[in-house]
Amino acid sequence: MIIPKKDKLTAEQLDEIKKITAEYGVEIQEIIGTHRSLYAMKGDERHEILVNRIEGLPYIDRVDSMLTPYKLMDRRSDLAHHQVLLHQKALGVEPVVIAGQCTIDPKRPDLFAQTAQAVLDAGADSLRGGVWKPRTSPYSYQGDNKAFQILIDAGQKTGLPLCTEVMDEYHVDMALEADVDCLQIGTRNALNYTLLKKIGDKIAGKNTKVLLKRSRHMGPIDEFILAGEYLAAAGNPNVILCPRGTLPAVDGYRNYPDESIVPLLKERTWAPIIVDPSHSVGKAVYVPQAALAAIAYGADGVIVESHIDPKQGIGDDPKQAIKPDVLKKLIADIKELFYLKNKYTGYITEA
Ligand code: PEP
Ligand code: MN
Repeated sequence: MIIPKKDKLTAEQLDEIKKITAEYGVEIQEIIGTHRSLYAMKGDERHEILVNRIEGLPYIDRVDSMLTPYKLMDRRSDLAHHQVLLHQKALGVEPVVIAGQCTIDPKRPDLFAQTAQAVLDAGADSLRGGVWKPRTSPYSYQGDNKAFQILIDAGQKTGLPLCTEVMDEYHVDMALEADVDCLQIGTRNALNYTLLKKIGDKIAGKNTKVLLKRSRHMGPIDEFILAGEYLAAAGNPNVILCPRGTLPAVDGYRNYPDESIVPLLKERTWAPIIVDPSHSVGKAVYVPQAALAAIAYGADGVIVESHIDPKQGIGDDPKQAIKPDVLKKLIADIKELFYLKNKYTGYITEA
């Protein structure tokens, strides 16, 4: 990783560097952060002479050649200064809550409009709404482009930034064109490296955020962080990691709740962490406690399924969505607990 002295290299400086690295078969990828740009070296960047030649340039601060599997996502990376913002809130400094329906029913735009308003009134920072749904059975409802317009309308009406799952390039293009703030990559696609690379390329240099769910078959913690590295390495550091439960499930829950990995993630990566308790436990009645547990473990926020009237919902909403009055109480408690738990966690950014 090349760290410039100023906040950004000029085009001429970048050209000069690219000429040098090309001699060693190394490509340069610009990563635009909040305060400054960094330049990742793609290829074998350990040639001593290569490093010396770049460090010798007057406008370069240093070349950071950390021996870590995730050069950008590592806590010790210079990118750790990067601040991911959600609706003007700095993740890690203030708690954030993304809430809304699992699935937008294209036949009931009225319900989503009401959910969106209720989520805003409850104090959420971002509105979730599933348009395209990854379903275990091909016979289940798969999503509908009509739901996309319903999502966009609700975003405009409430002023809330939007979060929705994308599963292919077509979805990504639609979402980016409509200025969706946060793209969700679901548990099934979390290890789809081709898709991660494609999404990474499409959002490079943009302010778009990506909420990367943990695969329900995810192995070691590093595998999760490395999936995030795919996105950051393409040029956008706004990667948020989202534990959402893994398989096999605890008998009675939908998955094996995995909010307890938050301290382990925080030790290794600077990436903000937003836990999804809804898919983890899979039943509305267990969600508030699971959400608070996530915050107690040090999560920077939660994404929660909420519906104005869950029994009229589709997808996961009838069983998982909490009602807006519960969401409101939960948000108040999350705020209190977030600051309380800072007493015990060493990795929370100082406000
Ligand atoms: C969802 O958020 O509705 C969803 C399908 O999530 P996951 O990918 O975690 O199952
Ligand atoms: Mn869902």
